[in-house]
Amino acid sequence: MFAGLFGLCIGSFLNVVIWRVPLGKSIVSPPSACPQCKKEIEPRDNIPVLSYLILRGKCRNCSLPISMKYPITEAITGILFALAALYTGYSLAFINFAIFISLMIVVVRTDLEQFIILDEVSIGGTVAGILLALMPGGLGIIKSALTAVSGAAFFLLIRIGASIYLKKQNIRTEAPEGFEDEEDEFQGGMGWGDIKLAACIGAFLGPASTVIAFFAAFILGAISGGAMMAFGGKKRNTPIPFGPFMAAGAVMALFFGEPLWNAYMVLLG
Ligand SMILES: [Zn+2]
Repeated sequence: MFAGLFGLCIGSFLNVVIWRVPLGKSIVSPPSACPQCKKEIEPRDNIPVLSYLILRGKCRNCSLPISMKYPITEAITGILFALAALYTGYSLAFINFAIFISLMIVVVRTDLEQFIILDEVSIGGTVAGILLALMPGGLGIIKSALTAVSGAAFFLLIRIGASIYLKKQNIRTEAPEGFEDEEDEFQGGMGWGDIKLAACIGAFLGPASTVIAFFAAFILGAISGGAMMAFGGKKRNTPIPFGPFMAAGAVMALFFGEPLWNAYMVLLG
């Protein structure tokens, strides 16, 4: 319960991070304001999820509609924090879970909205993951760092392999609108952001859960990509950000990675 409420507040903070960090703005000041009427958002209108419902999704002053992505981000953060507390109890491991979940939520939003995975999240997250591995009961620094390096190397190989293949087939991926001058970044399936994110996931999850996370990401990506092409009229050569699938797979593996890995090992042996 407490963890869920804490998660709602962190979700609200993540909304600020997602909005301001890509623009290079401070996350502390100035206080949040309506983008249309510039009126500062009062504390009573800044309560996670609840304010959105009370205001029926509109600015109190000018009635500018507020996107549903804000309360949804808060709600999902709250739910995942509550689940994490159930899973870990109120132990040191909860800190690990909470930080990792927060990072993954930022990845989903920034990559879906702007095709960006912030270095603060991927590289900063890798460093944080390796340091947190030092905690009692943690992975240990060597396991964490080695998994980070292997994760990044795996995605780098995919990028190199895919870009060679696509070049041979003469398939060029179109850059999304607004990114025309960065077209090269979108060749080869995986972006550099995905490679750095793989390191972060590895640093937090360790080898067994990272394998599960990547496996889940590719399955989720294949299903969603197929569905989008079948129903959404999505063209084959336009990019889909892969970060959200990696983040979703990683959060699944955070909770279920070890049991799934152990079940797999039992099946094998
Ligand atoms: Zn307004």
